[in-house]
Amino acid sequence: MLIDTHCHLDPQYFPEGADETLTRARSAGVTGFVCIGVGSLEQTQSALELAQRRADVWATVGVHPHDAAACDAALEGELLRLAAAPRVVAIGEIGLDFHYDHSPREQQAAVFRRFIHVARELKKPIVVHTRNAPAETLQILADERASEVGGIIHCFSENKAFAERALELGFDLSFSGIVTFKRATDIQEVAAWAPADRILVETDSPYLAPVPLRGKRCEPAYVLHTARFVADLRGIAVEELAEQTSQNAARRLGVSAVLN
Ligand SMILES: [Zn+2]
Ligand SMILES: [Zn+2]
Repeated sequence: MLIDTHCHLDPQYFPEGADETLTRARSAGVTGFVCIGVGSLEQTQSALELAQRRADVWATVGVHPHDAAACDAALEGELLRLAAAPRVVAIGEIGLDFHYDHSPREQQAAVFRRFIHVARELKKPIVVHTRNAPAETLQILADERASEVGGIIHCFSENKAFAERALELGFDLSFSGIVTFKRATDIQEVAAWAPADRILVETDSPYLAPVPLRGKRCEPAYVLHTARFVADLRGIAVEELAEQTSQNAARRLGVSAVLN
């Protein structure tokens, strides 16, 4: 049994509806889903509605760094209200993306800082998105005392030095399909080495389908391929990795497999 700790299931990605996709995932042994509520107010609401309707789905609420420039006071107020809902298990994804720079960097940083405060007030963990900004991300997490609530570095794509510091700050490492890519040797090194009680797996659907499905629309069922790959790196059976990562998800997010 696996838990996909980071998937986007909005209608714009799955116009046929999330339920069919989740049925396929459940047939593959994936029995819990953390649906990321970012992008727009509608997308956040759709994640939360799915989590309120299905016992095997939980939601997060946040502002993706791509969208930081669009985060005005009105939107932020609405998101704060939604973030308090019991089915919302984390604040995110929030962070910095200096690869795409879809929003100005100062705005990305300001929104990241403000939502770390929200997480601390609500006592909910944080889901961090970080790309091409390792030092800046770690600095903000430290400055804003993110370790009070801890959380997850999602779609881990940094090196071992970053991983060590993130673990110290109370962040677990979540591996997506990227770890299966041939050139991802730094990430594979971290996935082989990281403490067993600090690792998670995710799809980040609809993006980043793992090998051998690379290039397809990614969906939660595919987390099994990532889990197998990470288990191989660690020299353990996929069942053992599934057990460890599910326990970690339960400890970190309070989510657990829902059998039927
Ligand atoms: Zn992300
Ligand atoms: Zn994401």
